[in-house]
Amino acid sequence: MVANAACSPAYRLLSNFMFRLGRRCQLCAAVLDHPEDFPLCPQCAALLAPRLGGYCPRCGDCYADPMAPVYDCLSCRTAPPPWAALGFYGSYSGLLRDLVHRHKFGRDHGLGVILRFMVLQAWRLHALERPDIIVPVPMRPMPVLRRGFNQSAELGRLLAGALGVAFAGQGLLKIRETRAQSSLGRAARMRNVAGAFRAARDVAGRRVLLVDDVMTTGATMRACSRACREAGAARIEVLVLARAS
Ligand SMILES: [Zn+2]
Ligand SMILES: [Zn+2]
Repeated sequence: MVANAACSPAYRLLSNFMFRLGRRCQLCAAVLDHPEDFPLCPQCAALLAPRLGGYCPRCGDCYADPMAPVYDCLSCRTAPPPWAALGFYGSYSGLLRDLVHRHKFGRDHGLGVILRFMVLQAWRLHALERPDIIVPVPMRPMPVLRRGFNQSAELGRLLAGALGVAFAGQGLLKIRETRAQSSLGRAARMRNVAGAFRAARDVAGRRVLLVDDVMTTGATMRACSRACREAGAARIEVLVLARAS
């Protein structure tokens, strides 16, 4: 009887309503007693703190020591990336990695509040410019069909809403099929995506912010940035939720 009552539509409606009455931590559902618009309890916030040190500001490559200073890595000093600035929230590990997985594979759209908070924090922490237009990194058609959504577009839309700027879901198009980057080494990733994207006319003369969920070698982001530059973008900045090594 109890199990049936707990599953009934009336129970779900009521519990949903009660849940909305009190502000809860978006990860563990603990009641929040702080008044600010901050969606996490102190315990979850500590586990999901943004990366503040020990990384390359050009490409986001994270060094072993998170307390180390922020300085350009060797590859950015020899071959700077084609974007003007980069923002990211943290390294692709721990709770942040779990969140990205839940969003990508679990279709957990209830994560919207915390994801919006994190992309906005990343944008602020790295002092990125206010863009004219936010463009997501496009996905290959088959995964979009399988999942029913593009997680980079979801993040881009959340940030565009938070900043009050235009979102261009079709700002970049994939003009040829590529293999999954995760199956390839560094050099092969560059070849795989070189020339695979074309930017729409919307980007011409605009300050563009490219958004993706995870950046690993940056090969896809480089190819997307070049496509925007070729289409006449005035400035290109990049924002990713997590930086994988
Ligand atoms: Zn919590
Ligand atoms: Zn670097």
